[in-house]
Amino acid sequence: KVASVAVRCLATSSSTPSSSSLPPVALAHLRPVQGFVGAIGNTPLIRLNKLSQETGCDILGKAEFMQPGGSVKDRAALFVVKDAEEKGLIKPGGTVVEGTAGNTGIGLAHVCRSRGYKCVIYMPNTQSQEKIDLLRMLGAEVHPVPAVAFDNPENYNHQARRHAERLENAVWTNQFDNTANRRAHIETTGPEIWDQTDGGKLDGFICATGTGGTLAGITRYLKDRSEGRIQCWLADPPGSVLHSYIQSGGKLMEREGGSITEGIGQGRVTDNLAQEVSLLDSSLSIRDEDSIEMVYRLLDEEGIYVGASSALNVVAAREMAKKMGKGKTIVTILCDGAYRYQARLFSRKWLESKGLVGAIPDHLKKYIVL
Ligand code: PMP
Repeated sequence: KVASVAVRCLATSSSTPSSSSLPPVALAHLRPVQGFVGAIGNTPLIRLNKLSQETGCDILGKAEFMQPGGSVKDRAALFVVKDAEEKGLIKPGGTVVEGTAGNTGIGLAHVCRSRGYKCVIYMPNTQSQEKIDLLRMLGAEVHPVPAVAFDNPENYNHQARRHAERLENAVWTNQFDNTANRRAHIETTGPEIWDQTDGGKLDGFICATGTGGTLAGITRYLKDRSEGRIQCWLADPPGSVLHSYIQSGGKLMEREGGSITEGIGQGRVTDNLAQEVSLLDSSLSIRDEDSIEMVYRLLDEEGIYVGASSALNVVAAREMAKKMGKGKTIVTILCDGAYRYQARLFSRKWLESKGLVGAIPDHLKKYIVL
């Protein structure tokens, strides 16, 4: 579908000669799309040149930071709202309520504005101020609440559900256990990756999870389409239980410790992940030191300004490449831009408070500007 758009554009674009040098994915967006939601998806797949050279593999990052709402979660936000509309759970003028680390909320706030809904967001008060500010600027009602475990009734997700129950014409979109989230990636991200690698010419896919929608949806699509050939692995930050769950063959440990990576890490197997967890071939645990170094390396070497979950994914893709051997093609997700975290990630004081200044190589310390 993308290729045919490209051909059509090239055939009719003699008045815009510069477009003929753009690759097909970029061309897919040169035609008008239907409002904000029409611009979701069709992100480029970027070859990370330095890391590819270093590993002898092709390391490719799906540029979800280029989504109209700025993150991979725009896809899930659109799908959970469409799902609620199709099921008659919300009518015009209604309210969407969600519990989120921020990115799903930002995606929802955009989608809600563009479709005329109100948006109410509950989030743990540990998340970056940039995300809270942006949500409010997009018209959402934001409730930062103490970060307590999922089995505590005051957890942000349960508060969101109760808020929706108190209102007329309101829906709790429940991104963690609503599989419309995973479907967004089965129907859009997975097929895009397949098409962008010349019909599935990739050997491995790896990414971290928050809700599990991205990993499970893409894994489901790639495993089905390649008849199990493509290796699909989980990447996990410190303080998440999924790596040990996979390595132990299904033992769920208590959550312990935490990570600087916002939006990823999980204490349970969500409904979005439940069906696909058995399809995963392996998993890697990635240290914060390596993730923060990669934030700075991607900026310095590739000019790519992404948050810590993207950097963790890239470290994991590099480790997967090393384990699989030279000549392989590995795909991962560049989840969002660093703009959402810059007051932390580029602040000496914050890095010191996390004991992470030493993780940044001396020649990259010039980027610590705050
Ligand atoms: N990275 C960031 C920055 C996120 O906000 C999220 C979503 N919470 C993810 C990665 C993980 O995506 P998913 O919910 O699909 O597992």
